[in-house]
Amino acid sequence: MTCVICGSTKQSVIRDTLRYGVKRDVLRCSKCGLVFLASQKGTDTYYAGKEYRKRHGPTPGKASSMREIFDAYFPHQGPIVKALKNHLRPGMSVLDVGCSTGHFLAALKGKVKTRVGLELGQDEAAFIRKNLDFKVYTEPIESARIDEGPFDLVTAFQVLEHIPEPVSFLRGIAKNLKPNGLLYLELPNIDDALLSVFKVKGYADFYYREPHVSYYSKNTLMALLRKTGFNGEVKTVQRYNFTNQMRWILTGKPQTTFAQGNGTPVLVTDESVPSRIRASLNVFFKDADIRYRKLIEQNGAGDNLTFLGRKTL
Ligand SMILES: [Zn+2]
Repeated sequence: MTCVICGSTKQSVIRDTLRYGVKRDVLRCSKCGLVFLASQKGTDTYYAGKEYRKRHGPTPGKASSMREIFDAYFPHQGPIVKALKNHLRPGMSVLDVGCSTGHFLAALKGKVKTRVGLELGQDEAAFIRKNLDFKVYTEPIESARIDEGPFDLVTAFQVLEHIPEPVSFLRGIAKNLKPNGLLYLELPNIDDALLSVFKVKGYADFYYREPHVSYYSKNTLMALLRKTGFNGEVKTVQRYNFTNQMRWILTGKPQTTFAQGNGTPVLVTDESVPSRIRASLNVFFKDADIRYRKLIEQNGAGDNLTFLGRKTL
């Protein structure tokens, strides 16, 4: 195969099995280090169909309704909106590519002038049209004709790792951005602490999955963005909390619901426990969570990569 970033045809096989025991080689480019799947499903038919949501959603191994997906993710948009807060203006226009059930754009309500979504999944788009107050397009970004564009800001959360042809995808985004427009991305970091520091086997078996066709690091993501005409900064952020990480390290298994692994951990919940003990222990876990995330992020081992930058071409 040919590396989409550097064009090299030399790779090594780093593993041969994905989540759910699916047999597939995972390759690492010998030249630039990009990690990708040996054979990849196209995006247009896969996401428009039912197969993807049957196996992949906020609760591992369970098919969630569109309402359940929205309700799982919407309460956790605060840190993302906060990360963008210095760049949001009341008059601006925002396009969210791969907007899923529209939870991020719903959280932006009242903060910007125009919100538009793009989502290949028909069920997700139908959910937005029925329940939310912004427009959603269902064509790929490369070919969509979006009347509201070009935009001041384009965002894409947990999308780039799904894209078999990221160069044309990012050029499609650039086409829909104003000159000097802003791009914000979030996607999994292959240098995630559970893989690179704790080396949890159960996590690696869960981590590599059919819909994620590429696995980026700070360096490979920056190389791809430079190649497609963007300049800015790649950082890592720890989105899952300290207790989620401890659970993986100690049991090799994920939390059972998305909510448990996110937000502030509150471990003492029984009302019969004296409130002084409850409060002091919960403050301890809250502080531990903040310190853990900071340490992980300082070492570039957060579970997600973020990119904030501008179009230069
Ligand atoms: Zn390469």
